[in-house]
Amino acid sequence: MSRKKVCILGAGLSGLSLALSQESKGNQVSVFEKDLQVGGVLQSIKSEGYLLDYGANTLSIRTKKTEDFLKKHKILEHALDANQECSKRFIVKKNQVISLPQGPLSFLSSSFLSPLGKIRLCLEPFIPRKKDNSSDETMASFVKRRLGKQALDYGANPFIGGVYASRPESLILKHAFPSLYETERKFGSIFWGMIRGGIQPSEKLSHSRLVSFKEGMQELPKRLAEKLQTSPVLGCEIKKIEIKNNGKWSVQGETQDGKIKEELFDEVISTLPSHALLNIEWVGIKAAHLFKTLTQTFHPPLALCFQGFKRQQIQHPLDGFGFLVPEKEKRKILGTLFSSTLFQNRAPKNYALLTTFVGGERNPELCNLPENKILKYAYKENQTLLGIEGKPTFEHIKLWPKSIPIPDSTMDARIKAASTLSIQNKGLQILGSHINGAPLPNCMVL
Ligand SMILES: Cc1cc2nc3c(=O)[nH]c(=O)nc-3n(C[C@H](O)[C@H](O)[C@H](O)COP(=O)(O)OP(=O)(O)OC[C@H]3O[C@@H](n4cnc5c(N)ncnc54)[C@H](O)[C@@H]3O)c2cc1C
Repeated sequence: MSRKKVCILGAGLSGLSLALSQESKGNQVSVFEKDLQVGGVLQSIKSEGYLLDYGANTLSIRTKKTEDFLKKHKILEHALDANQECSKRFIVKKNQVISLPQGPLSFLSSSFLSPLGKIRLCLEPFIPRKKDNSSDETMASFVKRRLGKQALDYGANPFIGGVYASRPESLILKHAFPSLYETERKFGSIFWGMIRGGIQPSEKLSHSRLVSFKEGMQELPKRLAEKLQTSPVLGCEIKKIEIKNNGKWSVQGETQDGKIKEELFDEVISTLPSHALLNIEWVGIKAAHLFKTLTQTFHPPLALCFQGFKRQQIQHPLDGFGFLVPEKEKRKILGTLFSSTLFQNRAPKNYALLTTFVGGERNPELCNLPENKILKYAYKENQTLLGIEGKPTFEHIKLWPKSIPIPDSTMDARIKAASTLSIQNKGLQILGSHINGAPLPNCMVL
């Protein structure tokens, strides 16, 4: 096979892992990135002795495929496991931070659900499988149908707020949690599916791991970039892409000093966020109207508030991952990570770092407030819930006007649009988290 010249747009996790995969096929690869660093939303910042992650805080290694990817690129040996205490997770109920059950005994004694809610949840194995074969059921409908309303309000709702900054009503189950969707189809019930090992048990690791890295999550894309034969071209924003008569792709970018760079390629693979696609002038593309369909992706706005305290200022033992807030509790935050419990070296000695999520689909308007006001809301909520005395000794905020791409009811049309664009335009592929899914393992290509 002849060696192709491949252009990858974006040096986030998707772009870098695709670049490595293309290089391993023997192709000559160039990665173009508008920022001056690699990583995309994976950004780790050091400030006043704290280590802050602006994007993902954790990588969940559950499948052999994810583990193989990290092993293949010699990254697994640098992974830092989350503190064992972090298997404990909390939610807010009636103004209290309560721990979620970790086993059958604690399930019985926990106040997470009422006795009726627990009975309803235990009926799951006896709930018949969905009758119609439609595949557009929302996460909310699935949980309510199989596990009951309380499990939706105090389980799925805070969980989706924490993972997607969204609501279970907006998520399409088959895209957001394909294995749950398949489990019901194959086994008729989540319970029976679990008993029988679930979908593709050979793919699942017997022990999953929750990891980050010593220098934060950005260490992952930085290490991947180091493995490339040709380093990514940083500070080069792609402005124009044109298909030429001879089938070659002309890619034009502008460097930070205003210079225009143009190069010809056999193939172009975009891993840009959907909203960045329309900033590019696409010339000679068939079915170009489909770019509009791709930009229908909903990314809720989200603010991450980082607040540092002397450890003794906080009464709560911070002995877990953090807490999530069900929407029913009507609070201004989605939840708080106990970041300095989660991984070592996130805060100076004898200090604690809390990372609080504000906004999301639930309260998008809060992200339009002045930064000091958003930080104040985060502080006030943590103060009452965790028993904090005095003000934070460190504060920092990161605002994402468009955070995580939501696998919502537009996703089928978006996947179809990306596929049609690549079929009709030989050598073009539109990938990235808005098509492949937002969790980090979805952005890794072996
Ligand atoms: C706040 C937040 C928290 C998250 N938490 C988690 C978590 O805990 N666990 C988890 O698994 N996932 C999490 N995610 C999701 C996960 O981090 C992302 O889905 C993933 O990192 C996206 O990678 P990507 O490469 O597809 O896109 P991106 O990281 O967005 O990369 C795209 C790149 O394209 C570049 N670009 C844009 N326009 C141009 C242009 N015209 N020319 C050149 N380059 C351009 C951008 O600068 C960027 O570097 C989180 C996401 C966010 C935002």
